[in-house]
Amino acid sequence: MIQDVKEKYAVGGDIVSWCTKCKLMLDHTIVALVDDLPKKAKCKTCNGNHNYRDQEPKAKPPGGTRKTKKTDFETHMSRLEEDYDFSKAKKYSMKGNFKKEQIIEHSDFGIGFILNVVESKKVEILFKDGPKLLVQNR
Ligand SMILES: [Zn+2]
Repeated sequence: MIQDVKEKYAVGGDIVSWCTKCKLMLDHTIVALVDDLPKKAKCKTCNGNHNYRDQEPKAKPPGGTRKTKKTDFETHMSRLEEDYDFSKAKKYSMKGNFKKEQIIEHSDFGIGFILNVVESKKVEILFKDGPKLLVQNR
């Protein structure tokens, strides 16, 4: 049956909604309407009542301390991106001699930003995964 008429919702009617418990798009029964649109729905699978969602919610960014480090990294990078050519980043090597605020490229960790020269043979480098202590002047 093909109808071009705008669908009319009714309490007790069927609707496909995102179930916040099952984490799936499933058949629901409309529980409440607001302005003729579904507001609350009851999942036919788990019988849970929740707000009606017409699509899968977007994944939330991961939280925790990792996020802070990553933000630090991104802040540094976005500040540098405007006037720095990353293709010119110096390759990291244990034999290298690095300076504070230099950009380097590590074969495993990727682009890094020298936070500090801790001592003549140690540098603290901020990578995407967080800061790491690496050797230099070996
Ligand atoms: Zn459910």
